[in-house]
Amino acid sequence: IGSFHSFRTFFLSWYNVTDGQPRDLVLQPVWDYLHQNHHDLLRSPLFPVVLSVTTYFLLVGVYTTLDLLAPTWPRINHYRLHPDKPVTWPNIWNTLGVTIYNHLFFIFPAAVAQWLWRPPTPLPPEAPTLWSFFLGILGCMVVFDFQYYLWHLLHHRVPWLYRTFHAVHHQYNQPFSLVTQHLSGWELFCVGFWATVDPILLQCHSLTTWGFMVFNVYVSTEDHCGYDFPWATHKLVPFGLWGGAPKHDAHHQRPGTNFAPFFSHWDQLGGTHTQRKRCEGLLFLL
Ligand SMILES: [Zn+2]
Ligand SMILES: [Zn+2]
Repeated sequence: IGSFHSFRTFFLSWYNVTDGQPRDLVLQPVWDYLHQNHHDLLRSPLFPVVLSVTTYFLLVGVYTTLDLLAPTWPRINHYRLHPDKPVTWPNIWNTLGVTIYNHLFFIFPAAVAQWLWRPPTPLPPEAPTLWSFFLGILGCMVVFDFQYYLWHLLHHRVPWLYRTFHAVHHQYNQPFSLVTQHLSGWELFCVGFWATVDPILLQCHSLTTWGFMVFNVYVSTEDHCGYDFPWATHKLVPFGLWGGAPKHDAHHQRPGTNFAPFFSHWDQLGGTHTQRKRCEGLLFLL
């Protein structure tokens, strides 16, 4: 009876019954903390941009450090998709140069525009439920995946669009993390636009929106990281539903395949799905 009572107390601390509807409150302490301590920062329309950019540079910093250690550290190199092709300093400087150019001339002006014209983000007193948090992120990912799939297919099938806007991303056929934003301004604008608009379309809570943005940056960087770690998203999602680094790497090797950035259902349906093979590098040469 005692243990049942403590279980019931524990359960009720998670679920608050309002209007007869049980509502899980797992995220409420986090939300209250953010509300009380970082209210002004979180309300700023600049915050989502700062969050995405910071997440990107942190992840790229970690992966690039691994890239530089890999040639002398076999345990790291073992997880690389192309262990025989080390990432070089010229690779890093070139991609970093394009990334910094894009941040100065596209992301920074877009952030200023949002700061000037977007009203402060509303912060409701209630946190999202854990269910709506994860469902919102999943919904945004599914929508974003479809938008990018169509954009990507179009920009490979129309030669002028490919040459003008997408070829720059294909300069490297063995991606490493910094290739993620080795993009034309138009591609970066589209990606940033969908990442901003999709949570608004799906009426996500601010916390869900930020969760989606961080996850989106994480999986985009993972797609290009050039590693196949045991914790990779495609190993955690069942039934081959998630493409991940091996399949996006295959896209950079054979650009007529794997157009969807995250999930694999559109490529499966469209007949453009391919698995990465160990001898991919040789196939490309042939
Ligand atoms: Zn790519
Ligand atoms: Zn492509």
